[in-house]
Amino acid sequence: MYDYLLAHLSLYIDDCHMSDQVSTKKRPEIIAPAGNLEKLKFAVLYGADAVYFGGEQHNLRIRSDNFSRDDIAEAVRFCRERGARTVFLMNSFLHEKDIQPARAYLSEIRDFRFDAVMVSDPGMMLLIREAGIESDIHLSTQMSTLNHLAVKFWRDAGVARIVLAREATADEIRAIKEQTGAAVEVFVHGALCIAYSGRCLLSRYLAGRDANRGDCAQACRWRYSLVEEKRPGEPLEIIEHGPCTEILSSKDLCLVGRLDEYIAAGVDALKIEGRMKSIYYTANTVRIYRHAASLAGTAEFANHLPFYREELDLVSHRPYTDDLFNEFGGNGFAPIPTVKKALFLGYKAGTAPGGGSLVKTFNPVYRGETLDAIFPITDGKRDCSFTVKEIFDDEDRGIDMARPYSFCRVIFDREPDDYAIFRRRL
Ligand code: SF4
Repeated sequence: MYDYLLAHLSLYIDDCHMSDQVSTKKRPEIIAPAGNLEKLKFAVLYGADAVYFGGEQHNLRIRSDNFSRDDIAEAVRFCRERGARTVFLMNSFLHEKDIQPARAYLSEIRDFRFDAVMVSDPGMMLLIREAGIESDIHLSTQMSTLNHLAVKFWRDAGVARIVLAREATADEIRAIKEQTGAAVEVFVHGALCIAYSGRCLLSRYLAGRDANRGDCAQACRWRYSLVEEKRPGEPLEIIEHGPCTEILSSKDLCLVGRLDEYIAAGVDALKIEGRMKSIYYTANTVRIYRHAASLAGTAEFANHLPFYREELDLVSHRPYTDDLFNEFGGNGFAPIPTVKKALFLGYKAGTAPGGGSLVKTFNPVYRGETLDAIFPITDGKRDCSFTVKEIFDDEDRGIDMARPYSFCRVIFDREPDDYAIFRRRL
């Protein structure tokens, strides 16, 4: 049932690629995270111009549900049919022992015609070309590219696009563009990392999981306590806020309010972080940044900014920053709780046999409750609410509550569009 539905996500939402409304400037590409095939489809349906995803090896999120060969084939087909670009991740760093497995894996995937392959390690570039893969090469942010000389170096080496270090400021990006004209991509939204461009040994040291090989345990977000040398066994918990301690953990990036500055600097692509995050996160951040990038620099943008901010506040996140690297100075990393103001409940997968909506749930849904629903933004904002009148399980028995991770038939007070995403405000 699930595979069938996933395949039929290819049924299209009318007009789901939003019109690029007022601005006549070249709009940068919105490049979205795709932690699995389902998220990839929602990213495209909600407006991504490009998606990035990894296979079962050699990418920097080995714990996300990475793509099998069949998934990759379906992802490429789905994106190509909708004009979305595919960026395949081969961005782990190679030890000597990794070279032969990487070679073997590249020969397995060389026939998929990705628009680009993302690398960190220059050795991987050589292996990609050796395998006869002609896709563009994109350089990962993990190479910490911060200046125009480094950009020139990589461009001369054959890199088509450089994802700049997250530490690069808008002024630095402008200078790089002016002096090189090279295609650059920057992160505009999502988790940051306290380590420089993600180069960190904390996770490897404490958990044996290497962040530079796609296995970060996010050790910087664990609970820590302080032990005074002469008082062993008397740990002092470092309490900065109720639920946990995150003395090393950073705020999350949110550049929506500064998009015009970044676009004016000449950025070619705006990247959203979060392959491990939910479909709801992916869809909502994509649609907001797509719309915001279309209007950046126009008067309309300011009118929409409160809506953008409210929606981005409704995905789980740590407190946002638009300038983390200038928040240092002793007080930039004060209490950092997670902000969660809405719960992702599920999405409408199509019309149910027997009438009503076929809903895939991710959290419980109750009969009688009123849900928020979001959609791709086709013409300004048109999100609305729906009331759950009846729920039927997979044997068509009436129930009061739909279990998480199930498919059920739901009768709403009126019929939502396919691929509506439902949430409950908390
Ligand atoms: S442990 Fe924290 S600081 Fe280190 S790589 Fe992972 S997220 Fe970044």
